[in-house]
Amino acid sequence: MAKDLAQFAAENGVKYFMVSYTDLFGAQRAKMVPAQAIAGMQKDGAGFAGFATWLDLTPAHPDMLAVPDPEAVIQLPWKPEVAWVPANCVMNDAKLSQAPRNVLLRQIEAAAEQGLTIKTGIEAEFFLLDPTGVEVSDKFDTAEKPCYDQQAIMRRYDVIAEISDYMLDLGWGPYQSDHEDANGQFEMNWEFDDVLATADKHSFFKFMVKSVAEKHGLRATFMPKPIQGLTGNGCHAHISIWDKAGKTNLFTDGTHDLGMSDTGWHFLGGIMKHASALAAITNPTVNSYKRINAPRTMSGATWAPNTVTWTGNNRTHMVRVPGAGRFELRLPDGAANPYLMQAVIIAAGLSGINTKADPGKRLDIDMYKDGHTVKDAPPLPLNMLDALRYFDQDSALKSALGDEFSAAFMKLKHQEWNSFVSHFSRWERENTLDI
Ligand code: ADP
Ligand code: MG
Ligand code: MG
Ligand code: MG
Ligand code: MG
Repeated sequence: MAKDLAQFAAENGVKYFMVSYTDLFGAQRAKMVPAQAIAGMQKDGAGFAGFATWLDLTPAHPDMLAVPDPEAVIQLPWKPEVAWVPANCVMNDAKLSQAPRNVLLRQIEAAAEQGLTIKTGIEAEFFLLDPTGVEVSDKFDTAEKPCYDQQAIMRRYDVIAEISDYMLDLGWGPYQSDHEDANGQFEMNWEFDDVLATADKHSFFKFMVKSVAEKHGLRATFMPKPIQGLTGNGCHAHISIWDKAGKTNLFTDGTHDLGMSDTGWHFLGGIMKHASALAAITNPTVNSYKRINAPRTMSGATWAPNTVTWTGNNRTHMVRVPGAGRFELRLPDGAANPYLMQAVIIAAGLSGINTKADPGKRLDIDMYKDGHTVKDAPPLPLNMLDALRYFDQDSALKSALGDEFSAAFMKLKHQEWNSFVSHFSRWERENTLDI
């Protein structure tokens, strides 16, 4: 029996539910529903005019209903009278195929059909800025190599500890937080989980970090490169492949390099094969391409990949296999949609398994120093339009993700790119006025 949200409200003192869905651009949209009205909404969903958000719907479409997934409900630790519940989008009694959580659910089903369960952990880096979003909030946070800066994290103890306490209370298993490699940048880690649970936690984490930062008069951002010249916000994904019951890790059995099993090896092969295309989803904004392909940052390294290569425990490549049992994809950034980034990883990986894709030889070099010596590694897209073109050319990946989703995503992202390039920039005047 599914959890009853009305009963959940009564037992936990919840007055309102935020019935929430994530659109194609990663924005969370919600209706605030009083506990008295949640029983009907749990059954029928909350109504939305889909056109008003990024889903590629028209004003003439019928109501879209966001049907809460009661198992995923989370009471807001910073506002316990409110509970957040992610919802699945439905229209005309059918799942809306381009809605990101539905896209991920379909990939989870595709994996299950092959007897596989995917588990992931993510590292959603963020900056704490002043309320304008322009400057690092802590004026003393100016070190050239600020990573793990003990003094600087203590100056933000109230924010970081509050979020960490909440994750402890929620049972997420947080195990470390640190000041990251850019001034004003932090990372908080918690235990991996089934991919849907991680995607929901990722969404909630962004909501929570922004909310707690605002409470403290600050502004949190997951923007890939919020400050020029400083290390950007990555969102590394760690991925392992398990049996149907989720009990046995199938990634490693000693068959291939670094102990990878056939399943792990070909899944990784799929990631390598589709990498240039999947960047359109893992690195979805104009700003994303200021993090990858970036010049060296003030700290000495960008910690972001520039080419499609993989390695063992070495942080200069796109994929790192840090040890037995999983691999780390270092490509995604803070703008990645929590559902779509996991969906495209599974789609690429399953395609690799089905085609017995070979990831090629691992490289052990320092890519930041010696990357220029690698001649045959595919490049990553140089900008958002480049990424959209790679994606558009990858028909296997597009159909694995679903034709309706892929068409909707392409259409809206091209519109966004056109909006960007039609914007008249200061750079144009400064560099071409006198030509
Ligand atoms: P690093 O900074 O070294 O890349 P972190 O400790 O910051 O690593 O993050 C590692 C993430 O990987 C965590 O979310 C962790 O739970 C997750 N992880 C560890 N083992 C696995 C696994 N077998 N499958 C999926 N995720 C994993
Ligand atoms: Mg109205
Ligand atoms: Mg980390
Ligand atoms: Mg990090
Ligand atoms: Mg990492």
